[in-house]
Amino acid sequence: VTDASYNSAGFDRGHHCPSGDRTNTIAANSSTFLMTNMIPQAQYNNQIVWAGMEGSLRRLVTLGNEVYIIMGSYGIGGTGNGGFKTTIDAGRVTVPANIWKVAIVLPNGNGDSARVSTSTRVIAVDVPNNNSLFSSWKNYRTSVDAIEAATGYDLISRLPAILQATLEARVDNL
Ligand code: MN
Ligand code: MN
Repeated sequence: VTDASYNSAGFDRGHHCPSGDRTNTIAANSSTFLMTNMIPQAQYNNQIVWAGMEGSLRRLVTLGNEVYIIMGSYGIGGTGNGGFKTTIDAGRVTVPANIWKVAIVLPNGNGDSARVSTSTRVIAVDVPNNNSLFSSWKNYRTSVDAIEAATGYDLISRLPAILQATLEARVDNL
């Protein structure tokens, strides 16, 4: 997959890890532009819903938090500027149907995994990959359990099962 794979595709080169989250060195920032960090993401999903969430999470960091972020996509087929497509670049890149992100928010500190408790803020979003989205990312919040069911992953699996059960069932509403 090259940069040109996305030419005239009708989808943005959507970053998994945002450029704005890796600004400490030029090398770190450049690494976010590798094509392995990209997915075909509908323009309004990327530039409105997703960019809004990325900005909100960076603000939480500015306010004195550490934010652990896990992101991915699942399913096949999304609606970009050129309509519904299952692949781009002559079938070489799959267009995902949904894009999700899970963020665990902890106040700045050390020994992070041991500081996670039942009151830790966990934000999970699952957003359809289509161009008809104009609203806040907050409208796409869901539970980690729902993302696990959709993807087959066991997320935040290094935390004790009892903590996972509580944190993964909750839907963020702050
Ligand atoms: Mn679970
Ligand atoms: Mn889990």
